[in-house]
Amino acid sequence: MPESWSNKNPPLDPVRFAPGYVYDPIYLEHDTGAHPESAQRLDAIISDLDWKGIRKQCKNIPARPATMDELTTVHQSEYIARVEEYCRRGGGWWDADTRMSINSYKAALYAAGGSIAAVDAVLKGEVPCAYALIRPPGHHATANNAMGFCIFNNVAVAANCALKTYKMERVLILDFDVHHGNGTQEAFEHNPYVLYISMHQYPLFPGTGHLAETARGTGAGTAINIPLPAGCGDGEYKQVFDEIVVPATRRFKPEIILVSAGYDGHWADEQSNMRLTLEGYFHLTRVIQQMAEELCGGRIIFYLEGGYNLKVLTCAVNATFNIWLKENNFDDPFGLPRNSIKPHGVNELIAEVKRRHGLF
Ligand SMILES: [Zn+2]
Repeated sequence: MPESWSNKNPPLDPVRFAPGYVYDPIYLEHDTGAHPESAQRLDAIISDLDWKGIRKQCKNIPARPATMDELTTVHQSEYIARVEEYCRRGGGWWDADTRMSINSYKAALYAAGGSIAAVDAVLKGEVPCAYALIRPPGHHATANNAMGFCIFNNVAVAANCALKTYKMERVLILDFDVHHGNGTQEAFEHNPYVLYISMHQYPLFPGTGHLAETARGTGAGTAINIPLPAGCGDGEYKQVFDEIVVPATRRFKPEIILVSAGYDGHWADEQSNMRLTLEGYFHLTRVIQQMAEELCGGRIIFYLEGGYNLKVLTCAVNATFNIWLKENNFDDPFGLPRNSIKPHGVNELIAEVKRRHGLF
């Protein structure tokens, strides 16, 4: 077994370096019209980071288009050509959920390339951590299809860069978007070097992410799905982290943590029936950050996935940067949930996931 990445590279001092972010105005040109996944989302995030004076404290990581070699680590070249042609002809509704415009292909190439640029910046030690503020999002995109607002699978392309370019052997993808990242799971289904952990409302789009889906062949056991019932909030997510996510991450000993960050589990987000609060997201983010500092020298990259309430989105992204900038505060204009759905069977579910994955 070759020497591990963490042994080759001493941990970075997170205080010494400003966190990085990827952003490019091309992302706003993926025009979806009247659609929950609109350019307004990133516009709101960037405006708010500027308003709070956060962006100027961080380092810009320039985005670039992904190359065909990079994209084809996840996607079939026929599919990539199909997207290019569809957008060149003006785009439209690819399926019932996913819309593309004339510049969507270019924006999607830059989203995937920006995701790789974030890996390069972190693994070359230019920044300790980074947030890829990109769109279109990626975790539903499969080898040969766009779906669920996603075109190319940004986090999967980024993970492949860490494996192939930097010869990493243990990449963790942690997905707390409220939907299951079917595309990401599929991309690494036979890959023992990537651990994919997802907690998501179940059943919900896209219908995958049952706890029995644990990856296959040489990758068996490297997908940990935590399919949560509707109504879960801060308490249930904290329990999932304490009992599954943290022990599984410690056991895996990642060399880098890539986070599929979606904020559509917030109680005010209309895409799900979960009851997370901004304080809950703040807590989860702090735990993920602590795991990165404990296990992989703070090497962590967030990739923006879902989150459709603009105010929730801006507050949650701000809170992440505040953690990195050592300002342990966050803004929560929403407070506690106003819905009162009671989740059923969470203890039994957690026990079953732990049993299947030997987490005792
Ligand atoms: Zn989502």
